[in-house]
Amino acid sequence: MSKRIKTRGKLYIISGPSGTGKGTICSRIMEERKLSLSISMTTRAPRDGEKDGQSYYFVTKEEFENKIKEDKMLEYAKVFDNYYGTPKDKVISRLERGIDVILEIDIQGGLQVRSKMPEDSVLIFILPPSLEELKNRLNSRGTESIEAIEKRLSKALDEIRFIGEYDYYIVNDDLEKAVGEALSIVDAERLRVPPKVKPIIRQYEEE
Ligand code: 5GP
Repeated sequence: MSKRIKTRGKLYIISGPSGTGKGTICSRIMEERKLSLSISMTTRAPRDGEKDGQSYYFVTKEEFENKIKEDKMLEYAKVFDNYYGTPKDKVISRLERGIDVILEIDIQGGLQVRSKMPEDSVLIFILPPSLEELKNRLNSRGTESIEAIEKRLSKALDEIRFIGEYDYYIVNDDLEKAVGEALSIVDAERLRVPPKVKPIIRQYEEE
């Protein structure tokens, strides 16, 4: 029988400029390592094909501000004039049950989570191969105006300047390689010595 003990779940925070392929990398690690995705709440309008409760919980500004007042958000940020945030309850209960959770959130949010839950968080930054490539990806996605794309590009550089606050970084120039690197991070984190080691030692003492 394995002597690995069941520990509290980890909180994987995946950040990086939009258009870097964060979403795809998150789906792949969720599938391949059985992590659970936290669905964020936002006040932005749904894009074509986005469903409430799947892509995001879409709410009004008033509803969002009430959640903040009631202390129901683990973190939140204003991104491109809209609120985005992580509802607290589900994340905490999953971690307590030993389930690893992924948050695909921006850097402001990532840093809030790190300061609230430093022992639970693993911060991973996804970088594009270049800003030029990022611009091409945002253009070909075709969901945004030229003005919005320019806004996202200038935010991208602002975000990259915060890379020093993160634990790991992945350059997504080849999706399979990037996914492989993300899986290695999860695998390594799962092999870490946990904060409470007595149960591990006891198994050997009792042999
Ligand atoms: P989008 O509008 O493209 O879906 O997301 C815009 C940005 O908001 C992305 O950088 C994304 O990572 C960030 N974001 C999405 N959900 C959350 C969240 O719950 N909290 C924070 N802080 N940022 C989020």
